[in-house]
Amino acid sequence: MDKCEFCEGVIKLRRVLARFRYNEYTIYIKNVPACVCNKCGELYYDAPIYKRLEKIAQQGESSKDDIFPTCSIKDGSSLNKNVQ
Ligand SMILES: [Zn+2]
Repeated sequence: MDKCEFCEGVIKLRRVLARFRYNEYTIYIKNVPACVCNKCGELYYDAPIYKRLEKIAQQGESSKDDIFPTCSIKDGSSLNKNVQ
């Protein structure tokens, strides 16, 4: 069993809602397999998973053959800028 780098909590493989930052965008991708620390909540992605997240971020949306079935994008910066 693996341990967290930060707090030595136990990490377990789960499917999470990943929050991924790319430029000004914050992208939320559902059902991403990641290891989660049960103490501090730190997420650990496998290298191929992380690359996939990066690619989704660059494309701005998920493609049909995406390994993650659902994906939504939120532009967090526009939320703040455009409010008067
Ligand atoms: Zn931890």
